[in-house]
Amino acid sequence: MQERKLMELAEAAGTIAIVGHVRPDGDCVGSCLAVCNYITEQYPEKTVDVYLETPPVKFSYLKQFERICSDPETGKQYDLCICLDSGDRERLGKNVVYLDTAKTSICIDHHITNQGYGAANFVKADASATCELLYDFLDEEKISKEVAECIYTGILHDTNVFKNSNTTERTMQVAGAMMAKGINFSRIIDESFYKKTYVQNQIMGRAVLESVLFLDGKCIFSVVRKQDMDFYGVEASDLDGIVDQLRVTDGVEVAIFLHETENHVYKVSMRSNNLVNVSKVASYFGGGGHEKASGVTMTGTPQDILNNLAERIDEQLKG
Ligand code: AMP
Ligand code: MN
Ligand code: MN
Repeated sequence: MQERKLMELAEAAGTIAIVGHVRPDGDCVGSCLAVCNYITEQYPEKTVDVYLETPPVKFSYLKQFERICSDPETGKQYDLCICLDSGDRERLGKNVVYLDTAKTSICIDHHITNQGYGAANFVKADASATCELLYDFLDEEKISKEVAECIYTGILHDTNVFKNSNTTERTMQVAGAMMAKGINFSRIIDESFYKKTYVQNQIMGRAVLESVLFLDGKCIFSVVRKQDMDFYGVEASDLDGIVDQLRVTDGVEVAIFLHETENHVYKVSMRSNNLVNVSKVASYFGGGGHEKASGVTMTGTPQDILNNLAERIDEQLKG
């Protein structure tokens, strides 16, 4: 079975680096810590380090969260680099150095745009989350409650609480197997997904208030600029959920949300309902993701960016 490969490689390696994508989300943090916890529980003698950009504190209930290293310049080299939930090398950000300097590597991911950048690659675009896929690599009886919390968290976040169209029978089976480990799933859902700080609610309210419909009401758009983020004292991870709220607007096929990361540089998030493959739209401009959830970074004024995106979306709507 191909899935044995992860543990075979881990067994053979004395030192292991685990890396995930920039601006880590629940599936990224969950999958990295699931693998970290599983390996350290099975092989306490091995050196295992997790490298991620600073993760949102809402995931701090996950075991070994405090071990995540956000300094990419340690100069350490590893026998094995495990890449999780990142569709391409670039999305690893500065932590790509651990992939480049490791003796061997393995990539486990579920992005349709993943071309396979590891020495070994396991990419299944029909898996709802990397965490769902990961379950095939682990021995059921060796999955601890702590590992189950990580896996459940990843699936929960990439399916928006088991309701996105990427949720399958398999997704629920894996989530069910994690529940059987005795995790407090309702607390995990509330604490890591639904709970919002006051300012998070405020900025979401403002983004929704200022949103505009275009392409005959089939698309909705909103933007948060750097100055707005500074005003509310929020960072990028505080904007989670805004694009999903825009998507459920009646009549809308595609929701587009922009936030400014640097002067005139915007992170674009797109969500689709039925008619448009937004992964194609994002890929066209150098980004990627999934058919119904994708992202890309673009430069220009919000109006220019919107015009460029609208052209590609309209093509598909007319298709
Ligand atoms: P987001 O809108 O950031 O939640 O991203 C939606 C999906 O698109 C996620 O699966 C991301 O991994 C992917 N994605 C976001 N930004 C990029 C990007 N710049 N390049 C490639 N994939 C991206
Ligand atoms: Mn992710
Ligand atoms: Mn994912």
